[in-house]
Amino acid sequence: MNLAYEQEDSLQTDLLPKASAANIERILRNLNHFNSTPEFGTTRVLFTEPEVAARNYIKQEMQQLGLSIREDAAGNIFGTYEGTEPVLAPIWTGSHIDTVLNAGMFDGMSGVVAGLESIRLLEEAQLRPRRSIVVVVYTSEEPTRFGLGCLGSRALAGKLGAEEAKKLKDKDGKSLYEVLQSLDFPVDHFDEVPVRRGDVKAAVELHIDQTGELEREGKTLGIVRTICAPSVYDFKVTGRQSHAGGTSMARRRDALMASAEMALAAEELTKASLGPDDYATATVGRMNVIPGAVNVIPGEVDFSLDVRDASFAHKKELTQKILGKFEEIAAKRQVKLTGKEYNDDHPMPCSEEIQAKLTAAAEELGIPYMKTISGAFHDSMLVGEFAPVGMLFVPSRDGISHSPQEWTDFEDIAAGTDVLARALYALADE
Ligand SMILES: [Zn+2]
Repeated sequence: MNLAYEQEDSLQTDLLPKASAANIERILRNLNHFNSTPEFGTTRVLFTEPEVAARNYIKQEMQQLGLSIREDAAGNIFGTYEGTEPVLAPIWTGSHIDTVLNAGMFDGMSGVVAGLESIRLLEEAQLRPRRSIVVVVYTSEEPTRFGLGCLGSRALAGKLGAEEAKKLKDKDGKSLYEVLQSLDFPVDHFDEVPVRRGDVKAAVELHIDQTGELEREGKTLGIVRTICAPSVYDFKVTGRQSHAGGTSMARRRDALMASAEMALAAEELTKASLGPDDYATATVGRMNVIPGAVNVIPGEVDFSLDVRDASFAHKKELTQKILGKFEEIAAKRQVKLTGKEYNDDHPMPCSEEIQAKLTAAAEELGIPYMKTISGAFHDSMLVGEFAPVGMLFVPSRDGISHSPQEWTDFEDIAAGTDVLARALYALADE
């Protein structure tokens, strides 16, 4: 691209009006009415009545912006702002509108609303880029109903087809496939859901920061370099169940004490080795003690381990160290250790080009930003399997999310939208 062309781009986005915090607040508050637990936070679980109503409401907002609307077999919603050369691969932006139980009104929704507001700004400035811009609502980023997250983006990445959708069951035994079918989604066309690499030019997601880092650093925006990916394991430790009073300390083969030592070792090893991005986490979030009685030495313990890292190579190295240590502890304490790996995902590096566009827009607007990594994963991690992705974070008070206390100032989402709209235009006009 030559310099004259670049100047033209930035002159064009100078025409963009500023995002309206009031309009962003209006849509977010309207969305928040679709809620199963209005007395305690926001609960909007996939394909429950409020979630379906929220989908219809977003489609209404899309219609008012003149977007053409399409839904796929996996329930993803696409609202397209057509470019002057609609045959070119489009630019996507969006996030999710489902929530965990008793959540807040920002996680996910902010990204969808920022996408809609970006389109409103482009329309107001009468700017139509070459490529279409598509606002996407991904189906069920949260695993609340089917125990698996990122259902829509997973299907788009070709990792959840009709067969998998038939096997995924909610707690009432209903499959995702059945539910989609009952809501008239085109389930016969599940094979058309996956996106081929090259079919989407770039995808940018605005999301709330879930660590509190932006607030602590006094920055309005975080431009994400990498999305961390988890490795998830289940372990079973078998010792010897015996009487608490009758078994001397020396003779015990206590499954809980062994598990506790393993959990502490995972913490210690991770703290000591944060890797090249200075970010790795290890979490034992679940521990099940059997038989779980006050006067019995636990004979068996099941526990989970979740390891996340910004570098795949480092995650491998760290998990090997942790597993090695677990075996050492098991041998020392004479308990049996078995384990199962559930997934070992690759962290998703964000596209350098998208980061550069977001950075240029933030600098042009004088909005304080920082480069950051995402410890939590998002739909963008799966979208990244078929398109270059970028993520933009806005501050979250005290870093709290998945809670009724979740709060982001509407002005901060507006600032993020100003940057998002400029970056979307720059990407779409190439
Ligand atoms: Zn989210």
